[in-house]
Amino acid sequence: MSKEQYKYLLNESDLPKQWYNISADMPVDPTPVLNPQTKEPITPEFLNVLFPMSLVEQEVSKDRYVDIPKEVREIYKLWRPTPLIRARRLEKALGTPAHIYYKNEGASISGSHKTNTAVAQAYYNKIDGTKSLTTETGAGQWGSALSIACNFFDISLEVFMVKASYEQKPYRRVIMQTYGADIFPSPSNQTDYGRRYLEEHPNSPGSLGIAISEAVETAVKSNGAKKYSLGSVLNHVLMHQTVIGQECLKQMEMADEYPDVVIGCVGGGSNFGGVAFPFAHKNLTEGRKTRLVAVEPTATPTLTKGPYAFDYGDTAMMAPILKMFTLGHDFIPAPIHAGGLRYHGMAPQICMLYDAGFIEAVAVPQPGTFSAGVLFAQTEGIIPAPESAHAIRVAIDEALEAKEKGEKRVILFNLSGHGLLDLAAYDAYNQGRVVDDTLEISQDEIKARLPQVAL
Ligand SMILES: *Cc1c(COP(=O)(O)O)cnc(C)c1O
Repeated sequence: MSKEQYKYLLNESDLPKQWYNISADMPVDPTPVLNPQTKEPITPEFLNVLFPMSLVEQEVSKDRYVDIPKEVREIYKLWRPTPLIRARRLEKALGTPAHIYYKNEGASISGSHKTNTAVAQAYYNKIDGTKSLTTETGAGQWGSALSIACNFFDISLEVFMVKASYEQKPYRRVIMQTYGADIFPSPSNQTDYGRRYLEEHPNSPGSLGIAISEAVETAVKSNGAKKYSLGSVLNHVLMHQTVIGQECLKQMEMADEYPDVVIGCVGGGSNFGGVAFPFAHKNLTEGRKTRLVAVEPTATPTLTKGPYAFDYGDTAMMAPILKMFTLGHDFIPAPIHAGGLRYHGMAPQICMLYDAGFIEAVAVPQPGTFSAGVLFAQTEGIIPAPESAHAIRVAIDEALEAKEKGEKRVILFNLSGHGLLDLAAYDAYNQGRVVDDTLEISQDEIKARLPQVAL
């Protein structure tokens, strides 16, 4: 037996008892959140129409740590703590002196990190008396995670699923229905907005923006019976994901190493925030100097090419206005396979840290992410989600740079999900049909489409 260790496993008793709230350590003042109608700073009452009060309180909380309720920890135990793996076979294939570690969030019961916040959100809705939740889903990762969570807490769930995905990608729909959720292809005839839209565009394939509007309308018009749930972007969602990075801190200690660089892909920013914020805490309070790198597709280069400005969270201009790097709320992304990375904006907390120089961002073109994903599958054995393959691409690039410079570098990346429900994407890549969708856009073009805000 070789002494080489591959897996760093924690006991259930090591499961974090608290989430880490980076708002307590933010090196810059928080940016205001605005009401989409009045463009004035938002009130808790407005947010409470959409979210239960306990989550509204978490959204604005400055407490450094927030206790994870026992009921949530009991469900986390079904798959947490997740393994940290040293990617020794990938290191060998690259011939690099770098040490590559990855956190496997694909081991969750829904196949991605999204279950971490889905369970927490369903729990708080339950204790605040919510009978029913509404949400949107694109390809279906978020809808699947929330379906499982609502099933556990006996809350009914309505999911507005982008019609093109509903028709072309039936498997995640089947998953959601198996957990008892009601799925509507959006645009649907369930809402005023959907009916109006269908009248004008009877053959519309739908979009995430339309689906968000339908889910929000359903909650707003329910007289408080139904609330709305969002799978990324907001402060409380990123906080729920910090179980990932907190476990990594303990596991890196078991490996007797500390990362020089922590990498995650970014759609709305939640899995990156989850893995990186506990390390950001060490940088901000203990003088550590770990580089924190957010990876986005060149097809949706929010951080690397967008202006930092106020913009609506959704296409229909019904959601709150946030200050974020943005490609514009009416931006239509190219139909890339990493569906979870096709959002026009970015979590405000990530934007603040990026703007102030505390985190880095890189954009990578689609074909290179798939070649990285395939190399990872062939060496480590796991087919990664196309979203996660963005993080793998940059982890490999970091390892190759370390090789060129002849330096030992400790690299940690988050494997946000597995790709076993994304095989059509791998089929397209294997047949040479994955193209470079790099977006060429100017900041002036984007700025012309943003709301006018007097701030
Ligand atoms: C949804 C999703 C993402 C992107 O969302 P974030 O909020 O940025 O984490 C990334 N990876 C996977 C597997 C996803 O399902």
